[in-house]
Amino acid sequence: MDYKLSLEQADNVLKILQENYRVYAPITFKGEGLYSYTDSIRYGEINSFSDVEYKIKSQGSPKEILLPINHALSIESNGQKIDTIKDIDNRNILIILRSCDIHGITRIDKAFMNDEFYRIRRDKVKFMVMECPKSWDTCFCVSLGTNTTDDYSLGIKFATESISIKVKDNEFDKYFNTGYAQENFEIRFATENETKLNIPDLEIWDKEAMDEVKKLELWNEYKSRCIGCGSCNMACLTCTCLSKTKVNYSDNSNLTETRRVWSGCQLVKSSALKNTSMAEVVPARIRQRVLDKFYRPKLSASNEQVCVGCGRCTDVCPRFINFSTTVNKLSEELDNIHTKLGRDK
Ligand code: SF4
Ligand code: SF4
Repeated sequence: MDYKLSLEQADNVLKILQENYRVYAPITFKGEGLYSYTDSIRYGEINSFSDVEYKIKSQGSPKEILLPINHALSIESNGQKIDTIKDIDNRNILIILRSCDIHGITRIDKAFMNDEFYRIRRDKVKFMVMECPKSWDTCFCVSLGTNTTDDYSLGIKFATESISIKVKDNEFDKYFNTGYAQENFEIRFATENETKLNIPDLEIWDKEAMDEVKKLELWNEYKSRCIGCGSCNMACLTCTCLSKTKVNYSDNSNLTETRRVWSGCQLVKSSALKNTSMAEVVPARIRQRVLDKFYRPKLSASNEQVCVGCGRCTDVCPRFINFSTTVNKLSEELDNIHTKLGRDK
């Protein structure tokens, strides 16, 4: 069933939904942007549909709802360990997000469904897909097939004076008053991107081509450009490296907290630079990220790429390193490598 609601009616639905759901969407964090006097668009809980930033692409992904940037796993006190992985809020979670992000979450499910912290939260999640009729200049979802999806419970279309909601999952019928206007509509997804991506043609068994890839001059281009800030990893929904840290409290030496924090291959910690320079470290890191996104999937039965083409890594890079350009250059180089190796590709 599809409904066309006034903003007030939509917020009434939201209020009732919030009894059973925490509702997350991209929202504006004023003055918290990458540069001075700019805002940051990231995921946060909403209290009105007018909080949802649907006209601008978010720099942050919904990853932080399921794997917060910094979260406690356990506390140890006088030798006794207390798990803190349970979700203290018993409500379910409804995420308002775009098609590529739904694909991104299903990608990380494969790596994290055995992680108790993640699974407890993920089991509570339902998706409300947001329309994305026109893509942004750095998106390349169409090349990766992540521009459309059927994997959602609710769909939403924003207009200046109204909000249209598509209800696919019967569980949500009860939140809609029978008096609300019904109007059929289709969720519009992006059908074309300005940026096109050529997926690198590199098979897992192909050690010969891989050895050539490692030697490419292409990676050295980033020596003087990448500053190892890790912003690309932080913005990426499918970058899920985490590091565990033990925190001791100075006012209670018997208390130790185990926390997990986001990490990333592009985040060059000063300890990694002890006997070397940033320029020596970053080429291999960039190569690792590209291969992790476009080579690792071939290790599994699925041929899905890990990257979902959201373009956030490019949007946030302070050195204007464009990820799709790097991947396209690798694809071009691979064509040359296959020719050099006498392959008839
Ligand atoms: S690598 Fe870049 S484009 Fe691909 S999913 Fe991550 S942030 Fe999006
Ligand atoms: S955001 Fe750009 S400069 Fe920072 S680590 Fe990533 S590629 Fe390097």
